[in-house]
Amino acid sequence: MYRTAPLVLLALALFAPRVLAQDEDKPLHKTGYRVINVHRHVDSPSPEAVKAELEVLDRVGVSAIVVLDGGTSDGKLPAWIELRKKHPERLIVFGNVPWGRIKQDNFFENLPREIADQHKLGVQGLKIFKQLGMSIRDGKGELLKGDDPRLDPLWAKCGELGIPVLIHMADPKEYWYPLTYNTFHYGMKSEQEQHYDRDKMPSWEELIRQRDHILKKHPKTNFIGAHMGSLTFDLKQLGETFDKYPNFSVDCSARTRILGRLNPMAVRDFFVKYQDRILFGTDSSALNNVKPDDEKAVAAWKDRASRFYSRHLEYFETNRVDIVEPYGWGKEWLRIPGVKLPPQVLEKFYHANAEKLIPGLTRKKD
Ligand SMILES: [Zn+2]
Repeated sequence: MYRTAPLVLLALALFAPRVLAQDEDKPLHKTGYRVINVHRHVDSPSPEAVKAELEVLDRVGVSAIVVLDGGTSDGKLPAWIELRKKHPERLIVFGNVPWGRIKQDNFFENLPREIADQHKLGVQGLKIFKQLGMSIRDGKGELLKGDDPRLDPLWAKCGELGIPVLIHMADPKEYWYPLTYNTFHYGMKSEQEQHYDRDKMPSWEELIRQRDHILKKHPKTNFIGAHMGSLTFDLKQLGETFDKYPNFSVDCSARTRILGRLNPMAVRDFFVKYQDRILFGTDSSALNNVKPDDEKAVAAWKDRASRFYSRHLEYFETNRVDIVEPYGWGKEWLRIPGVKLPPQVLEKFYHANAEKLIPGLTRKKD
């Protein structure tokens, strides 16, 4: 018996069907819907990066992106606004808080004026990165809480100007779990950065509390919680947060690896129930780590990015069971079942909710 084992193995290796279908050979999934990606990064106002990104969008039928890296009025923002003028239908720019100036006198007092200046320049929203609550320290060296009263005039100003705040606070709850065999990122390069030292970091619960407190204090300001509001592990709690705070919506970016581990029927039911509150987003940045003059590398990036978008669209539009998780986690071993949202839900999720929350979204008549 044991003598035949090598032959059996050889036969298996030669003739067994490939267990995991690869999606590189499949045509890209091009959407027929109008799609706005509300969570995208283009780190600097580089015409080459924008050009590459727009070519990718054309391949998959996506209309526009929100660039979350507008920066500040004395930084890269003016250059972003110039670039936006060249692509008014396709680029939406969100500004950022000048945390680098936090040690300056009157930093907090000046924030409403800074955001008003950004608005005058043309930003259509404000993006808050996750460092708020986790690592930003005030002039005295104290960790700045998201719901610190000194930030209240900033949130209020955004409401007054009618621009949404896309806010990333906390992260998936599992980043606070101990590293074990049950760790999703087990053995991956990202294992360490997706794990927090619970002794040094505020707890997940505390960060969610701070975020919810901001929502409560500022009912006239619209907030979009990045990455399903860091609540993908408890959609019931996310639903309750929606019910409690009508000024709260979320984007779904960078969470298909968690949604894809849930029963697709449950995900669909949740997206149907909260169809007015969830916006399409992907995260990840255009031409990241690629030199714009390296033609081959740019072409390869465009292929990868097109596949990345295509997998997202397939996940939301089809009920295929063999979709490669868009980010290709862990050398692409994760297959996720599509949730096939109803067309009227897709219309809201893909663009109508964004058009409601983000001012000045232009749309040429088709
Ligand atoms: Zn992001």
